[in-house]
Amino acid sequence: MPDVRTVATHCPYCALQCGTQLTRERRGVSVRPTDFPVNRGGLCQKGWTAPALLDIPDRLRNPLVRRDGGLTPVDWDTALDTIATRIDRIRRDHGPDAVGVFGGGGLTNEKAYLLGKFARLALGTSQIDYNGRFCMSSAAAAGNAAFGVDRGLPFPVTDLGGADVVLLAGANPAETMPPLMQHLRTAQLVVIDPRRTATAERAALHLQPSPGTDLALVLGLLHIAVVDGWADTDYIRTRTTGFDAAWQRAMTWWPERVERVTGVPVTAQRQAVRMLAEASSAYVLTGRGAEQHSKGVDTVSGFINLALALGLPGRAGRGYGCLTGQGNGQGGREHGQKADQLPGYRMITDPAARAHVAETWGVLPDVLPGPGRSAYELLDALGTTEGPRALLVFGSNPVVSAPNAGHIVDRLSSLDLLVVADFVPSETAQLADVVLPVTQWAEEEGTMTNLEGRILRRRRLQVPPGHARSDLEVLHGLAVRLGEPGHRYPTSPREVFEELCRASAGGKADYAGITYERLDAGEALHWPCPDAEHPGTPRLFLDGFAHPDGFARFVPVEHRDSAESPHGTFPLTATTGRVLAQYQSGAQTRRVAELNEASPEAFVEIHPDTAYRAGLADGIMAKVTSPRGSALARVRVVATMRTDTVFLPFHFPGGARANLLTSDALDPRSRMPEFKVSVVRVEPVQEA
Ligand code: SF4
Repeated sequence: MPDVRTVATHCPYCALQCGTQLTRERRGVSVRPTDFPVNRGGLCQKGWTAPALLDIPDRLRNPLVRRDGGLTPVDWDTALDTIATRIDRIRRDHGPDAVGVFGGGGLTNEKAYLLGKFARLALGTSQIDYNGRFCMSSAAAAGNAAFGVDRGLPFPVTDLGGADVVLLAGANPAETMPPLMQHLRTAQLVVIDPRRTATAERAALHLQPSPGTDLALVLGLLHIAVVDGWADTDYIRTRTTGFDAAWQRAMTWWPERVERVTGVPVTAQRQAVRMLAEASSAYVLTGRGAEQHSKGVDTVSGFINLALALGLPGRAGRGYGCLTGQGNGQGGREHGQKADQLPGYRMITDPAARAHVAETWGVLPDVLPGPGRSAYELLDALGTTEGPRALLVFGSNPVVSAPNAGHIVDRLSSLDLLVVADFVPSETAQLADVVLPVTQWAEEEGTMTNLEGRILRRRRLQVPPGHARSDLEVLHGLAVRLGEPGHRYPTSPREVFEELCRASAGGKADYAGITYERLDAGEALHWPCPDAEHPGTPRLFLDGFAHPDGFARFVPVEHRDSAESPHGTFPLTATTGRVLAQYQSGAQTRRVAELNEASPEAFVEIHPDTAYRAGLADGIMAKVTSPRGSALARVRVVATMRTDTVFLPFHFPGGARANLLTSDALDPRSRMPEFKVSVVRVEPVQEA
């Protein structure tokens, strides 16, 4: 397909998936926002500068194979033959589970689907998971338990425009997805965040709990809602089950106790509940701050319980939702690249699900492996006697983004074979034995599913540079070399999408009625969309929840401490997050000059009193040390920080990686690592 002059597509970065139009000008590619509902003519810094990604100097253009310690350019046949030969040997010596696959939440739906199929059929491995496990797996588990299905926002973003009050728990959209804020312009915001973020600055009420205590706080909010008479008893009776058990747990979380545990004053707790309960239109939204904990699922369940008690979910103009982060964080978790799931959001242990997917793939159900390890457990097992000896990474950079990153580098370095498919030489690619240059964003066709469960077309403006190929072609080439019939791995995105839709039919995320033609004709299609006449489902749960009885479930939860608590050697708690100008591991945005200029280096935010006690001053370099490692960051003294907490962004590489510090304690259900609570000490370092 040749270059075209202009295309309507979407931003390459976050889950808002702002609408853009790209045009090839004499001086390069220009971007302008479209009137797409989520951004309505707005873009953030990242969206405005996205065309620079098409012209980055160190763009991968040729396959690379490690020889004599260095990565050497080779042709595609050599690269793919090398991988297939080494995989064959590893599988012969150690079995199919000796090869693992690590996917990404930025991959198109088509890539995510074909990657899952490739892993289960061509490799025959159960060992596949993806970086979305680090993103919103806790919200997904809690949403499934409460509502019977998980879709980030079960309503369109534009519904928020009519809200009187929105509670944001651990979400900072003013920095992470600024165009969303136009929908919150008229709402009063209640923000729960240990930091005074850009979003908290705009809030009518900011609750600033100690990190790791959100669950105690929300149990207290439920307590107030019930005791002060704000609970919607008719709604609880007619639309939910399990209230009594959830209330039993909240009973002992009276406001004064909550204040002692969280630091949030009683008056602020009462005001938050009153604001939500008195509003004629109110929403509760969670983000990573509430979710990335070893009790992340319970914490999100706590917020859903509060929303249910106030009668919000499944009613027009009200609701609960999760602000998904990665570009295809929603679609990425629906099509089979999760360790425990098959396409259509089906559980891999469900015999009916296995039979349906096996039939779509033309194999017997017994051929499909069972569940594998979750993302961190997969990375942690690499190179061990029980774990994979080879890993194929598509669209992810775990050297920077995984928790306890120093340990993960050790594990990656112990592999017999590391293959990375990416369009930039990421920090993980630099460790690889084979690097495969693949297409990005404006060089490919496909679909993405945004945070509203709306399926969007990604369109190609221009051919990729050098010898870069689409990931679909890479998977086809590898599968054939591993002895699979080529027709099982189409290279056309449209063909893969059609198969994906068939595989999803009847599942929770049902795409069966969606086609490229309908999307190209401008239809706004949110799943489920089970047939060609179906208009899609922008609002879920209005007629009942997705459990067989149609009722939502209260889930009883109890507060517990984080995996580690500050003590003499590590007296502070570090929490991590994003800044406006950078995205995820920074592998893309650190290569865009304007973004790097806006946010060039790692920093650590610290309260003035804490800084003084540690001998730190604004602007000097500090060493932040946790039980797992140390990271360097420039000190920012911030008066609004809690005295017991420091904050670091996680976008920066090398010795500035915040994830050198982060805890690898996992939530028992979602297997989400505890990125948001790590004990640390901070001390000055001399700059050379
Ligand atoms: Fe892109 Fe997200 Fe910024 Fe929109 S908010 S321009 S999708 S990064």
